[in-house]
Amino acid sequence: MRIDVVTIFPEYLDPLRAALLGRAIERGLIQVDVHDLRDWTHDVHRAVDDAPYGGGPGMVMKPQVWGDALDQVCGENTRLVVPTPAGRPFTQEMAHEFAAEEHLVFACGRYEGIDQRVITDAARRMPVDEVSIGDYVLVGGEAAVLVMVEATVRLLPGVLGNPVSAAQDSFSDGLLEGPSFTRPEVWRELAVPEVLRSGNHALIDRWRRDQALERTLLRRPELLERLPEGSLDKKDLAV
Ligand code: SAM
Repeated sequence: MRIDVVTIFPEYLDPLRAALLGRAIERGLIQVDVHDLRDWTHDVHRAVDDAPYGGGPGMVMKPQVWGDALDQVCGENTRLVVPTPAGRPFTQEMAHEFAAEEHLVFACGRYEGIDQRVITDAARRMPVDEVSIGDYVLVGGEAAVLVMVEATVRLLPGVLGNPVSAAQDSFSDGLLEGPSFTRPEVWRELAVPEVLRSGNHALIDRWRRDQALERTLLRRPELLERLPEGSLDKKDLAV
């Protein structure tokens, strides 16, 4: 997979080269390039923004600069992702969709965002997603890109040491994952639940499923409503 990010703060994306993502780059599993949007400006001030039509506070990112940048960075197999609080919510399902792509380009907005015609124009040539990472407003799209790239890349084959761990994570079966414990058996007078030390794998699986159901019910009840019909069995329903 190839990932390109266009931003006015390329250094903000340095963490893409750290830890798990850095190792994925070193091992050739992904190729990542970060581009400075100002390389496509045409004036001495290297301006990327202008006043909004219709008035109001803040500035809007100029279409000419973004248009030229995307013309050069996007290719035949590109899916363009534009972070915006006004986008569709980013989900694990979307991360799986992104992980199946050959080429992702992320366009990081700043100020009041990017002139909407940039998105309209790009959508004439490629799939475009306007995506929000949550119901709050950040200063720029860079932090949102770090979130989406990390969630996507960890799903690529060979990136995680143990692929089973992604399959058991929260959201993989529509539920939140239950609690985890490691040694020691008792810490600050708090004991690890006995069932996890029993060695009885059927009981452990049942306990984990119950914990996942309870946690989801308490913290994210709307997830239970979205489960496909038939995904809960009789024992689940007893929880
Ligand atoms: N005027 C915009 C609005 O109210 O919808 C907010 C613009 S925000 C200050 C600047 C940039 O930060 C956006 O263009 C986007 O790239 C990024 N951003 C802010 N919040 C975000 C979120 N929740 N998800 C994804 N990107 C976000």
